[in-house]
Amino acid sequence: LSSRKFQPEDTIIETAHNKIGGDNFTIMAGPCSVENEEMIHRLAAEVKAAGATVIRGGAFKPRTSPYDFQGLGVEGLRYLREAADENDLDVITEVMSVEEVETIGEYTDIFQIGARNMQNFDLLKAVGKTNKPVALKRGLAATIDEWLNAAEYIISEGNSKVMLVERGIRSFDSTYTRNILDVGAIAVAKKLSHFPIIVDSSHAAGHADLVAPMAYAGVAAGAQGLLIEVHDHPSQALSDAAQQLTPAQFTKLVAQAKQIHALTENH
Ligand code: PEP
Ligand code: MN
Repeated sequence: LSSRKFQPEDTIIETAHNKIGGDNFTIMAGPCSVENEEMIHRLAAEVKAAGATVIRGGAFKPRTSPYDFQGLGVEGLRYLREAADENDLDVITEVMSVEEVETIGEYTDIFQIGARNMQNFDLLKAVGKTNKPVALKRGLAATIDEWLNAAEYIISEGNSKVMLVERGIRSFDSTYTRNILDVGAIAVAKKLSHFPIIVDSSHAAGHADLVAPMAYAGVAAGAQGLLIEVHDHPSQALSDAAQQLTPAQFTKLVAQAKQIHALTENH
C-alpha cells in the first residue's frame, strides 16, 4: 500500500495548519525536549517567525542512558499544546509505547515514531489504528526496505497518513557527524513510495554547524520538509545540546532551504 505502484501520486497529509507532501515544503522545529513552560512558549513564537508551521518537542524521551533527563511527560505535552495553539502551529511529539498512544493523541497533531522504535511493530499497529498523521523515523541501522515495511505496518491498519523521516544511520565513521545522513535514501524513498519525505539533519549531524549543510543536501535530494532542533540556549539544553540551533541560525537555514526547495522538481 505504501508503494508508488499502488498509488502513483504523492500522498498529501492535511492537518489543522498544514498540507504536507506533494509540492508543499513543511518546516517542523523546536527543542529536542520540552524543558519547561516558558521555553516552549518562547520557542514556539521564534520558530513560527522563522517560517515553521509545526512545533516539535519531546515530552517522553528515548534517552540512551536511564540517568539522563527523561522528559516532562504529560505536563510537557500540555505546555507544547498551549504554545502551539497560541501560535497557530501543529504539534509533533514522540510516542514510545502502545500505552501512551491514547494520551499523547489527546495533545499532538502528529505522532513521531523514533528511530529506536521503527520496528516496534505493536506500536506501529497502534498508531495505525488512529487517524493522526505519523512521522516514521528511519531506524539506526534500518535498510530502506525495512523502513518502508515499517510504514506498511501503519498503513495496513488503515492509517495512510504516514511521512518518512531520514535522520541518519549508523556507520563506521562517527568521528565528525553523529550519524550518516543517507541522502540517497531520500531520493529512493521518494521513488518507491508516495509518502512525504522529511529530513531531520539535526540527529544526523549531531553538531550545530553541520545541521544546515546537511539539511540543504536533503532538500536538494527531494525532501518535502525539515525537522530541526532549535533551542534558545543550546549549550544549556537538557538533551542534544551540541546539535540544537539558535533561532537566528535556524532563521538563516529556513531562508536558504526554501530557495533550494524552489529549484527542485517538487516545486
Ligand atoms: C528526537 O527527535 O528527539 C529523537 C530522539 O530522534 P531519533 O529517534 O531520530 O533519535
Ligand atoms: Mn533530539
